[in-house]
Amino acid sequence: MTRALRIGRIFGISIEIDYTWFIIFFLVAAGLSSDWFAKHLPNLSLGARWLIAALTTLLFFASVLLHELSHSLVAIRNGLNISGITLFLFGGVSKMTDEPKSAGAEFKIAIVGPVTSMLLAAIFLISARALKAAPAGNVFAPVFMWLGYVNGMLAVFNLLPGFPLDGGRVLRAGLWKALMSLSEATRIAATFGQGLGILMIIGGIFLFFSGAGLGGLWLAFIGWFLIQAAQSSYQQLVLRQALSGVPVSTVMTEEVDWVPADTALDRVVHEYIMGRNHPAFPVLDGDQVLGLLCLNDIRKVPREKWHWTTARDAVPELTNQFTIAPWTDTWDALIRMTAENCGRLLVLENGRLRGIVSRTDIMRLMRTRLELGV
Ligand SMILES: [Zn+2]
Repeated sequence: MTRALRIGRIFGISIEIDYTWFIIFFLVAAGLSSDWFAKHLPNLSLGARWLIAALTTLLFFASVLLHELSHSLVAIRNGLNISGITLFLFGGVSKMTDEPKSAGAEFKIAIVGPVTSMLLAAIFLISARALKAAPAGNVFAPVFMWLGYVNGMLAVFNLLPGFPLDGGRVLRAGLWKALMSLSEATRIAATFGQGLGILMIIGGIFLFFSGAGLGGLWLAFIGWFLIQAAQSSYQQLVLRQALSGVPVSTVMTEEVDWVPADTALDRVVHEYIMGRNHPAFPVLDGDQVLGLLCLNDIRKVPREKWHWTTARDAVPELTNQFTIAPWTDTWDALIRMTAENCGRLLVLENGRLRGIVSRTDIMRLMRTRLELGV
């Protein structure tokens, strides 16, 4: 996810806006201006209505941010890592890098979001009522009224019992406590999530054809997103459980083919890359590991220079991102590969090359464990 704009930090949590968010911002503001404010503030000029609609939309996303912040803060207090909050097309998401440690923690982290939205709804609705009593022509009463309704809807929608919605997490917490198994609880809660997604698609299409217009399509679209999210969060849990507690040293390839630092690139290409059918080789100078030489690094050197350019010249400098210690969890190795977008890591112990671990190695382990059911 590199399509996000970082806007700052609150309580040490980084806040990002995905580019898809601008679409929803525009749609909400346009809807507000042409519908809600056209009805409640008919005397306003078009420009003023757009301005107040944009301001209201900003306050709405500030509410969404508060909802996510409440999840993140309770998660941090329960010992979890939060890598940030992203606002995107479907609202907001707190990026938790691990699962809650207990059913009780899961429940608290999940429920605080809808509770926050409910509180905001109450505050906005009470303010709207107070403002209504004020002199006529007050533009803020309809602003607060809409924000009150929409925060209430946000709370209710998020309480629907389909994982990974908040209500689905509450359901998972209950199942986890009852069944004593996080993976079973996740499997059931994610099935509920997919069922809910299907119902939303059917409901959305029905609404669309009975004249609800874009609102119906939007509901179907959210349903589709929920199905995807439920599937991928369950798959991720299965993967995490299979790979946690397995040190990299048991998965890595120990017999590593490596290239001596002074080998010319044309020899690297013909003998190593084509001859042994690997896309990347570690480059060694005696005992010292210089780095990992990939096809891409060779491609950067013009072909006519391959004869007198050595592996030492072409290999990128070795950085910590591409090395890993043999006792590291295989799950962490996979996270690193995904984050760095590279398919293999050098396994180093005290600066010495112990082996190389690739995505293929990890997938092989996964397959074995799934086939054996262990
Ligand atoms: Zn939530």
